[in-house]
Amino acid sequence: MTFVVGLTGGIASGKTTVAELFHQHFAIDIVDADVIAREVVAPGTSGLAAIAEHFGQTILNADGTLNRARLREIIFADPEEKSWLNQRLHPMIRQKMQIALTHTTSPYALLVIPLLVENQLQSMANRILVVDVAEAIQIQRTMARDGISDDHAQRILSAQATRAERLAVADDVIDNSAENDQLLSQITTLHQKYLAMCGKNL
Ligand code: ATP
Repeated sequence: MTFVVGLTGGIASGKTTVAELFHQHFAIDIVDADVIAREVVAPGTSGLAAIAEHFGQTILNADGTLNRARLREIIFADPEEKSWLNQRLHPMIRQKMQIALTHTTSPYALLVIPLLVENQLQSMANRILVVDVAEAIQIQRTMARDGISDDHAQRILSAQATRAERLAVADDVIDNSAENDQLLSQITTLHQKYLAMCGKNL
């Protein structure tokens, strides 16, 4: 069984940055829930077929791919549609994540799940690692990266779990409020700890 570290954090907290450092410096395999969530609705999948049947062909782009912007609008406006969609897709995503984890070969694997707390997926990991930053920094970094307004960034943040809710499930925390050069020493310490935990440092 792969030892799994679940990596989570709010929008623009630095999950991707942190996961890349684990991968680049320590060759740790990454399984990314966002990537898998796109795979389960790719053309030709049963996920996309179910969505097209439920919402009609207008949910597809001309090239047969999912019109994500349209789907986001629908589920934002209608919680029942959101729950219909989640009930269909979440089991598929969970199953694909499990399969991907069985194919990892590094001493432990990082499972990156942005909405781990919101979707209560703690049980998928042996240990939860939260990337933590102050909300004001999250907003600044979201605005800078995505070119959106302060208001828009605030709205995204308030639709997610709070910082306190995430910290409540954390076994380990990376503080990403400082500049990037302070990340690697935190990651190195955690890497040693995870190696010890999964018994691969002997
Ligand atoms: P999302 O969930 O929104 O995709 P994320 O949690 O994966 O985001 P990143 O994409 O890693 O976050 O980082 C968000 C933005 O903040 C990026 O533009 C990244 O370059 C920047 N960033 C991350 N960490 C730092 C840091 N320590 N100092 C300055 N900028 C940072």
